[in-house]
Amino acid sequence: MILVFESAIPCNQNCRYCYQRGRRLNIPINLPAVIRTIRDLYEKYKEPIVLHGGEPLLLPLLVIEAILKISYELTGQSSICTGGVLINENHIKLFKKYNTQVDISIDGFPEQNVLRLSKQQTQNLLEKIDILLAEKIKVNVMSVLHEFNRNYADFVYYCYNKGIDGIRINFLKFSDKYSLSLSELKSLSKKLLDFCMITLYDVLPFTSIIESYFGNSTDCFLTPCDPFSTSAARNILPNGKVINCTCTQLPYTYQSEYIDMRSYILYKTDCRNCKFFYACKGGCPGNQDWRRKDIFCPVYRHLFSYLHSLFHYQRKQEEPPLPPKQRKIKKLFPGETKITEVNGITQIERGDEIVIRRN
Ligand code: SF4
Ligand code: SF4
Ligand code: SF4
Repeated sequence: MILVFESAIPCNQNCRYCYQRGRRLNIPINLPAVIRTIRDLYEKYKEPIVLHGGEPLLLPLLVIEAILKISYELTGQSSICTGGVLINENHIKLFKKYNTQVDISIDGFPEQNVLRLSKQQTQNLLEKIDILLAEKIKVNVMSVLHEFNRNYADFVYYCYNKGIDGIRINFLKFSDKYSLSLSELKSLSKKLLDFCMITLYDVLPFTSIIESYFGNSTDCFLTPCDPFSTSAARNILPNGKVINCTCTQLPYTYQSEYIDMRSYILYKTDCRNCKFFYACKGGCPGNQDWRRKDIFCPVYRHLFSYLHSLFHYQRKQEEPPLPPKQRKIKKLFPGETKITEVNGITQIERGDEIVIRRN
């Protein structure tokens, strides 16, 4: 996915768990450079283009239009991630003109969305969603699960009945003071997974977990995402430069050549003997120290085990290949090795031995 301006422009909201707090880059916009980079990346990767933020609707209309237009010219559609509060008639005209999918951040009904907006603002936002749907604009919802929307399943039924195209759910890290407990998250996730299976409604990440269980990984956190190349998300800054997915701890690096070192490390360490590794690959490297498996592993395992109890699907586990450079290192250090590479420095761990080399 090609993200434009993720974590790089201001936002009008102040969500209490905002993942961009304290790490947003404020760089002046160089529109021609941005358009050039969008073209270059699209030519190379043919991936969907999404205008992101912060709040992209704070940008001048001219800039919003230029990005939706180039997306539309290249792909026949465009996408925007927004808090939705600022949507006005001019934006709606652009969304219709450039076949825009509008992804709106909202955690549920007014009483469920209090960490983002006041109850009245949420009510207004729900009415705005109705207007977009009436205009036949494709709407998706993006939500975070927390203690105020424990009963989030009710909102999923609402979205399903309204004709909202699909939902993307994110989990709040357990260290956050508003997060659900692990057992609550497991039980709510299983309920939502059941809902996806019964209705075939698209509720990510549960739809992706089902697809991955059957061997078709689609969502970034279920593919081998390496923090040095985050090939599922390339982020264009306002000056036209490209950086990694901003969820990682290494967001300001970018390596266009695909590498996959993390899943090899995890296969040998944290995820060793997990029979669902073929479907998961260790999850998102951004949820904690990238050398460890995803902190939400217990939830994924719970869901994969549940699917396994229903379907008994069998798939052979394959060791991920080492990238060529690491393969050479492995020859020099046979046995169980753990290899990490940061900014041209390779660290090799074997038992108590640690070797650090400059490449
Ligand atoms: S809408 Fe998104 S970027 Fe803006 S404050 Fe909320 S979480 Fe942060
Ligand atoms: S770092 Fe996480 S969120 Fe970003 S592309 Fe990789 S898996 Fe996806
Ligand atoms: S379910 Fe957990 S142990 Fe299994 S591959 Fe995923 S993160 Fe690793």
